Amino acid sequence: MSADGRFAPSPTGPLHLSGLRTALVAWLMARAQGARFLVRIEDLDPQRSRREFEEQQLADLRMLGINWDAPPVRQSERTALYAEAVAQLHEMGRLYPCFCTRAEVREAASAPHSELPEGAYPGTCGRLPAAVAARRIEQGDRFAVRVRAQAEQITFEDRLLGRFGQVVDDFVVVRADGVHAYQLAVVVDDAAQGIGEVVRGADLVASTPRQILLQRLLGLPTPGYTHVPLVLGPSGERLAKRDGGATLADRDEPASATLALLAHSLGLAAERAHVNTASELLNEFDPESIPRMEFKVDEALQP
Ligand code: GLU
Repeated sequence: MSADGRFAPSPTGPLHLSGLRTALVAWLMARAQGARFLVRIEDLDPQRSRREFEEQQLADLRMLGINWDAPPVRQSERTALYAEAVAQLHEMGRLYPCFCTRAEVREAASAPHSELPEGAYPGTCGRLPAAVAARRIEQGDRFAVRVRAQAEQITFEDRLLGRFGQVVDDFVVVRADGVHAYQLAVVVDDAAQGIGEVVRGADLVASTPRQILLQRLLGLPTPGYTHVPLVLGPSGERLAKRDGGATLADRDEPASATLALLAHSLGLAAERAHVNTASELLNEFDPESIPRMEFKVDEALQP
């Protein structure tokens, strides 16, 4: 498989240091191998996505010297591809409508289920007789579409986190508002764009078994996975806006200083080194030495 990489931000706010650092790792992984690098805008959620955040995110990446080989694609413009994948899953008899409200899903998920992980959907609507489901659709009840995962156990080898396995529950591929779910879109796009190495935040590691299940069902290749540990704020919690200095715009310093901090966090530069642009890091970069631990910014957060 190729080493082609991508960064796939959701344009729901400015990029935080975690996102910028993950983007840098994704870019270095691809470029160090002379591979292509793409940016994909994951703007499927119309309520949360904003064009101005997209522009700001792209501008921030450029400030760090991260470049890409083709104009960024927007998921909101690719729904026909996702609909095709849904049709394919439907033909395989793998989909069912789920009428559960959020509260019902929460309730169902909190009951103990022998083999499913905590918080998993136990397949309640998957057991509805077809005639009942058809009647409810006819009477206009709202429904999401779930894939029957058959409680399959899926394990993969992450380049940084090691072996990760999980029993996959019946997850949503089309939301009740008709929006295609992230799990589906990401799988379709990574395959369509020829991505060989998925680099993203470690907060998404638990999504990967679901995505691998979809790849297998849809007959798509499984890329390599690198889940990058997050950047933590001074309190040891995931970096948040209230920490200040979390985004490029909030940092009262040139982008090169933030780049140097990120490079330092990856073991690529001395603490107060100067790094003008990402390509200066390419020679030294070794995927094997990316830290496996979260990076905690203390005083260094405030420039
Ligand atoms: N759009 C997701 C996010 O911003 C990342 C998805 C991915 O890289 O697979 O968290």
